[in-house]
Amino acid sequence: MSEQPRTVALLGATGSIGTQTLDVLRRERETLTLDAISGGQRVDELIAIAREFSVSRIGVMDAAAAKAVLDELPHADVVVGAEGLGNLAASSDIVLNAVLGFAGLPVTLSALEHGRRLALANKESLIAAAPLVDRVRSVSGAGEIVPVDSEHCAIYQSLAGSAHEVGYPDVRRLLVTASGGPFRGRRAEDLTRVTKQDALNHPTWQMGAKITIDSSTLMNKGLEVLEASALFGIEVDRVDVVVHPQSVVHSMVEFVDGTTMAQLSMPDMRLPIAYALGRPVRFDHAWGSIDFSTALTLTFEPPDREAFPALDLAYAAGRRGGAAPAWLSAANEVAVEAFLAEEIRWCDIVAVVADVLTDYEDDSLGSLEALRDNDARARAKARERITRLRT
Ligand code: NDP
Ligand code: MG
Repeated sequence: MSEQPRTVALLGATGSIGTQTLDVLRRERETLTLDAISGGQRVDELIAIAREFSVSRIGVMDAAAAKAVLDELPHADVVVGAEGLGNLAASSDIVLNAVLGFAGLPVTLSALEHGRRLALANKESLIAAAPLVDRVRSVSGAGEIVPVDSEHCAIYQSLAGSAHEVGYPDVRRLLVTASGGPFRGRRAEDLTRVTKQDALNHPTWQMGAKITIDSSTLMNKGLEVLEASALFGIEVDRVDVVVHPQSVVHSMVEFVDGTTMAQLSMPDMRLPIAYALGRPVRFDHAWGSIDFSTALTLTFEPPDREAFPALDLAYAAGRRGGAAPAWLSAANEVAVEAFLAEEIRWCDIVAVVADVLTDYEDDSLGSLEALRDNDARARAKARERITRLRT
């Protein structure tokens, strides 16, 4: 007898990760059933997804979007805002969090609290809320996290080479690979006049605008160091960054005996998405398999920490712990939005984040209210600095 399909809530269904997840689901209709979705501004796309997959549980951001959905789908069960997202994340077998930024927090917390598998693309929620997420994960019956971020999915798979399940004493370090983004090889003084178009032109990955900008500043890699530390419970100084422009080696684990384990595939997010949905089953469809019958050169180099100071800022926030990563990520979200709105220059993004962090005073992040308060303060300070830059 074949098994019942597992249910999937796809939150952030209209975005880059969301639509690539739909590609995977189209191929896995026998094993996976989409039963909840959410979106933001792209309401028409959300309605089209609901129709294609016959989904009735739908999350939207505001009352106007709820009305637009109900006009088209009168029998839909529509929920609104952050509370709605939390509800949608509570009841499916697998919750894929593809929401953008800190707004993904209710999804992460609710899925874990309700014992669901959290297939996690939304790194910002984990980074900001790491102490709170740790607490939820330590409760018996809590859900598991399977990372969707390609580097972390690679590390997750490579850690199968460890004899341990926590602490990983046989792991010397995690090596997070970075493409280097569109400005690899440029010096700090060559980067003062780069345009939005230049920054949005990623060499190896097609992604949403925010993460594409984060890749150009290397803030994405800094966030990924914090993400790796939070996910695997390994201090940031045991996480290194290696620039690998081909984006074929998705990350590595170096063990104490000198062995390095890696996961390789062509850059295609549908592979880590399918892995996170299927684990421990591997679906029989190869996204991004490598053609070794033609020449393939893989190169590695250290990152340029002077031209890309975001990396060291992230390490410093990780060492400080508490709410420092939440401040870094919140200030960065505000600065990237301002850059995308052409209010500040590219080189101002990381300068704003660095400046905001100088105001941070240690906070151990004891509660969700404390996190929300820290997030709001960091955002307000970032906006203050942006206003000052514009005048
Ligand atoms: P997109 O901007 O393409 O999509 C984001 C999704 O979240 C959309 O469905 C969007 O709705 C929705 N959304 C945006 N803001 C809000 C909000 N305030 N409340 C509720 N929903 C909201 O982003 P990506 O798909 O690129 O990235 C999603 C997450 O995955 C990010 O955390 C990113 O760091 C991570 N990630 C992405 C990768 C990629 O290849 N794209 C790779 C690894 C990680 P709408 O579009 O309808 O407005
Ligand atoms: Mg990544």
